[in-house]
Formats: sequence, structure tokens, C-alpha cells
Amino acid sequence: MYDTVIIGSGPAGYTAGIYLSRSGLKNRLITGYAEGGQLTTTTLVENYPGFEKGVDGNELVAAMSRQAQSFGTEMTFARVEKIEGDVSPFTLHLDTGELVKARTVILATGSTAKYLGIDGENETIGKGVSACATCDGFFYKNRKVIVVGGGDVAMEEALFLTKFASKVILVHRREQLRASDIMVKRAKANPKIHWKLGYLPEKVHSNETGMTGLDIKSAVTGETETIEASGLFVAIGHQPNTDFVKDYIRLDSAGYIKTQPGSSKTSRAGIFAAGDVQDPKYQQAVTSAGSGAVAALDAAEFIYQF
Ligand SMILES: Cc1cc2nc3c(=O)[nH]c(=O)nc-3n(C[C@H](O)[C@H](O)[C@H](O)COP(=O)(O)OP(=O)(O)OC[C@H]3O[C@@H](n4cnc5c(N)ncnc54)[C@H](O)[C@@H]3O)c2cc1C
Repeated sequence: MYDTVIIGSGPAGYTAGIYLSRSGLKNRLITGYAEGGQLTTTTLVENYPGFEKGVDGNELVAAMSRQAQSFGTEMTFARVEKIEGDVSPFTLHLDTGELVKARTVILATGSTAKYLGIDGENETIGKGVSACATCDGFFYKNRKVIVVGGGDVAMEEALFLTKFASKVILVHRREQLRASDIMVKRAKANPKIHWKLGYLPEKVHSNETGMTGLDIKSAVTGETETIEASGLFVAIGHQPNTDFVKDYIRLDSAGYIKTQPGSSKTSRAGIFAAGDVQDPKYQQAVTSAGSGAVAALDAAEFIYQF
């Protein structure tokens, strides 16, 4: 029996492991198949504190993993398919067939950025294509970038990027935007933002130095044109990885885990959540790590009350 099983091996899960192990609690981390989480899909991370010259995303999460293991967190490369039990202790079903018992569980399964699925996109992720302006906007000083999306997040990303880019072109497949009036007004008032509404992204062009442009097709005439740009920010949302607990704990309408304000407690006592999976807004490595610490402290408090 474990005091805590952590599900997910991003900054939230690893930080929870470090805190639990250092409190002397027996804990095990189930990594999932994307071991290291989203940061393994990027190169340079420049906004994680403590690295004045930035740090490679893979190196950062590998160091977190080693740190957690050095204090005693056990790691298992597997996926959790189901959690069972109305109250603590819980039983976790791994896809290897193993059943694991735990007094508490921390859900840190993150979210997955949605991409467009067009030609040339996949191989340019991290070399021009990004799903996070806060993370990568800084690399596009005085360069031309494209934002794809029509909701509030797309407007926010476009406005944020105007701080760095020389020009931001917003591409959306419909003439009508889904974003709130206030966000659209703000974006339309910004002279750096240019609009291509009613256009579908078709193909990302790149060479050895990175992205060079995007083909877009008019939804009305069917004509194709190429926008030259060195960055493409896809802002069409994230999918939280909560399918396996959707009938077990309370989620919001977008599928994110609902936690009690100011804590990591979910709708079920003894089950806690941390990182992007419970945070539709900030979705950063440092905020995920912070919430991993919160979840570990909440889990420890739960365990010590018995
Ligand atoms: C391209 C890119 C660049 C980024 N750059 C930055 C940056 O520069 N700075 C920054 O602060 N943030 C950046 N981010 C955001 C940052 O990566 C995330 O906010 C952070 O990784 C979220 O951490 P997390 O621990 O919540 O989950 P994630 O990193 O999403 O990890 C989730 C983990 O859960 C596991 N998992 C999922 N389902 C299961 C299951 N059923 N069973 C077991 N395990 C499961 C997965 O294997 C994975 O290990 C970037 C994101 C992307 C995509």
C-alpha cells in the first residue's frame, strides 16, 4: 500500500514526488507514455526560475525525475486506466494489468495542445510552430508571426505577441470570431494585428532554419495564398487528459478537473489534482510545479489526519 500514487510525469507530478518523498511518505509515480510531459516537446525553456541562460525542456524534466527518485519516489512506465474506490484507500488499474493500492492519489496528467493537423506542421513544432505564446513569443522579436484561432485565447496570444513581433497576422476559418466583444475590440485596436478571416490554414513551409510561411485557402473562393512568417501560434485550445476519470470525479464543461479554491482537493476526498489538468488558464511549467507542491502538502495532511 502506498501513501500516495502520482499519475503523470510532468513538472506537477515530479514536484509532488519530491515533496512526498522528502516528507517520508511512500509514493510511486506512474509516468504515462509521454514520460516527462509536454516540456519534452520543446527545446529552450527560458522562463523557469533558476536557469539564467535557459534550460533544455528534456533536461529540465529529466533532472526533476532524478531529484524525485533520489529521495525515494518509485517510477513506473505505464498508464493508469481506471481508479476504483468510493473512499480511501483507492485501487489503480494500470494498463500492464497491475493493481496498485494507495491512500491518496494525485492526478497530474496534464493537457494536450490541439494542433491543426496540416502538412508540414508536425515537423515544425518547436522550430516555428508553437501552441504557447507566453512560452515562445520572446523568440520572435521583430519577426512576422501568424496566430490561428478565433476565440479569446487567440486574441490574447495575438495581443501578447505584439510586444515582440513586428507584425501579427490572425487567421481564422470563419468571418465571425468566437471571442468576446471586449477581446475583439482590443485586438482590432492594435495596429500590429492584421486579419485574414474566412481562411483555412493548409500547409506549413520550412527550411533548415525553421518556418518560412503558411499556405492559407479562402473559404469563399477556394484560392490559396502563402503568408511569409517565421512563427505560427496555434491557439485552438487544449484537451485535458481526464478521459479515464470523467465518471469518477467532477470536471468542468471543458473536461478540466474542478479543484476547491486555493487547494488541490477534488470532488472526492483523498484524490488531489495538480498542473495543467486542473488549470485551463495559466498552463506553465512553474505554475504546474507549484501546484504539484500544493497537492503533495494536501495529500500529506490527509494522510496524517488518520
Ligand atoms: C511546445 C511547448 C512548449 C512549452 N514551453 C514552455 C515554456 O517555455 N515555459 C513554461 O513554463 N511552459 C511551457 N510549456 C507548458 C508546459 O509544458 C506545461 O504547462 C507543463 O508541462 C504542464 O505540466 P503538467 O505536469 O501539468 O503536465 P504535462 O507536462 O502535460 O504532463 C502530463 C503527464 O501525464 C501523463 N499522463 C497522461 N495521462 C496519463 C494516464 N492515464 N496515466 C499515466 N500518466 C498519464 C503523461 O504521460 C505526462 O507525463 C510548453 C508547452 C508546450 C506544448
